[in-house]
Amino acid sequence: MTDGAFFTASNLSVRFGGIAAVNEVSFSVGQGQIFGILGPNGAGKTTTFNLIAGAIPLDSGKINLDGIAVNGLRPDQRARTGIARTFQITQPFDHLSVEENVMVGCLLRGGPIASMRDEARTLLEAVGLGSKMRDEARRLSTGQRKRLELARALATRPRLLLLDEVTGGVDQPSIPGLIDLVAKLRDRGITIIIIEHNMRVMTGLADRLMFLNRGTKLTEGPPAEVMRHPEVLNLYLGSAHA
Ligand code: ATP
Repeated sequence: MTDGAFFTASNLSVRFGGIAAVNEVSFSVGQGQIFGILGPNGAGKTTTFNLIAGAIPLDSGKINLDGIAVNGLRPDQRARTGIARTFQITQPFDHLSVEENVMVGCLLRGGPIASMRDEARTLLEAVGLGSKMRDEARRLSTGQRKRLELARALATRPRLLLLDEVTGGVDQPSIPGLIDLVAKLRDRGITIIIIEHNMRVMTGLADRLMFLNRGTKLTEGPPAEVMRHPEVLNLYLGSAHA
């Protein structure tokens, strides 16, 4: 682990009943890097996100963002330190407009409604939803909902963005646009941790990968190296081919 990294998770552990969902997992991410978490179903990927965002408490371990120990903070306090997330299953406010959904993200910082609206519009243009601003969120396709989630998360002005399956359920032609969008966020200096089942997306985007299995870190390194690891090939590619 790199000392002084922008984000550090040290020995994260949580158990649900008898199951060690996340077991002594440590990793660190440099500022402006994309760090990918891979692993089969039930490996502990989403639970790791829940621990970082504060949705569930740690049994033990430490989480540090830019020198701030965040593990004692509530989810809203963590959001104020700059942690934002998107969800595997998108959860927009269905009956609010697309624009209003993004304004909800701006509320965290407060300020005049007019400037929140301006910011929401700028973000929606940036994620390619400029023409949908006035539509109700429930009218969006899966790919458009993923873009809306990104805009909502960006409205909190995150320093660390947790992306859970950005391309999951998205039609094939929309995937390259989403990948470009994530790369642009990294280029703007946002640090990103991404969970993604699509191997091509992951190896194309991530600077480093960590592979989890049954809550435990199996390996971590540059994508090409992780993808050559025999147990990773066995576990991941084996199950993907099945
Ligand atoms: P997937 O790729 O299927 O989303 P994952 O790697 O994200 O899987 P997790 O959702 O983190 O895996 O689950 C890790 C383990 O913890 C699983 O055995 C799961 O059943 C269990 N688990 C997760 N959340 C809870 C919970 N709230 N209560 C009880 N068990 C849970």
